Amino acid sequence: MRKWEDNLRRVEPYIPGEQPQSQDVIKLNTNENPYPPSPKVEEAIRSMDLGTAMRKYPDPESGKLVRALAEYYGTDRDHIFVGMGSDDVLATAFMSFFNSDNPIVFPDITYSFYPVWAKLYGIPYKEIPLYGDGFLLRPIDYGYIDPDGDGITDESGEAVTNGGVVIANPNAPTGIMLSRKDIEKILIANPDVIVIVDEAYVDYADESALPLLPDYENLVIVRTFSKSRAMAGMRIGFAIASPRLIRVMNDVAQSVNSYTKSATSLEAAVASLQDEEYFRARIDDVLRTRARTVMELKKRSFNVLPSSTNFVFAAPTWTTGEDLYDGLRERDIYVRHFSKERINNYLRITIGTDEQMNDLFAAIDDIHA
Ligand SMILES: *Cc1c(COP(=O)(O)O)cnc(C)c1O
Repeated sequence: MRKWEDNLRRVEPYIPGEQPQSQDVIKLNTNENPYPPSPKVEEAIRSMDLGTAMRKYPDPESGKLVRALAEYYGTDRDHIFVGMGSDDVLATAFMSFFNSDNPIVFPDITYSFYPVWAKLYGIPYKEIPLYGDGFLLRPIDYGYIDPDGDGITDESGEAVTNGGVVIANPNAPTGIMLSRKDIEKILIANPDVIVIVDEAYVDYADESALPLLPDYENLVIVRTFSKSRAMAGMRIGFAIASPRLIRVMNDVAQSVNSYTKSATSLEAAVASLQDEEYFRARIDDVLRTRARTVMELKKRSFNVLPSSTNFVFAAPTWTTGEDLYDGLRERDIYVRHFSKERINNYLRITIGTDEQMNDLFAAIDDIHA
């Protein structure tokens, strides 16, 4: 073995859903939007002076998009951080805010990138089991103010020493939503650390943690253009938080790479924010298909968790998750299966078009015939 072998970094990377390059498959495995973005997005890119856009470095401050987002969410520019997809935003947030010796906490079943970043950056972490067969997140597991005046404790009375909190809300891959009131309970129990709420799917849910921002300077809300805005290929995500935290994120991000957002992506994102009507209409389309999908899966004896997202998490009662995954794949339908304890009988199925879902139901019937 060569000497330098000792110094090579060994990491276990996140495994993304497959991106089959054939156009002939039905792809319900990465929660992409089945509809394209607003036609205004494509128009905006076509009307750019592309020669100049390609020749020059893009705006490192993403000024135009930061202004557009501030206006859209009714806040000030110094509350907004823009990154290359929300994975980039989350990775930056982990680097920026989790520098304590105490473990950060997140659920045992959640976005599987969180433990990957924690290990990569040497952040100690603890996974808190979701409660029961319903996979519920109980705020009390993240600490609460002890009524006897012993500060913030867990149920056994031990002092809570979280180094930070990360919650995907709605959660992935379960699709289950925590109310804003419950998010606030977690914030109340964790006043001394940063609480990240990953709202990748919130546009398909009933409420956001946004209204809590003025009251909690330690709250960071992370969002993406990849799902509801149908722009996964453009790699745009953002965070909304107090100016103090946004400054730190910008300093950390600029210490890695000054130019992460391409000129075309920034222009596309701004245009997307300017077509609210189209945006709402496509969300309604997905919600309608989601309701139908839940019904059709239940008819076929699936256990379906309540979804506040553009996917459903469902387990067949008549076969294993893995066998069904294989059967669908043989029929060119890709869904996501996680070989992980507690959830290995479930499939995460992205809501596609009605036509795609009809093909899915037909394939299930064929497999279960
Ligand atoms: C899809 C997803 C992301 C990342 O999306 P980007 O494409 O990097 O913006 C982040 N968190 C969760 C929970 C997701 O499902």
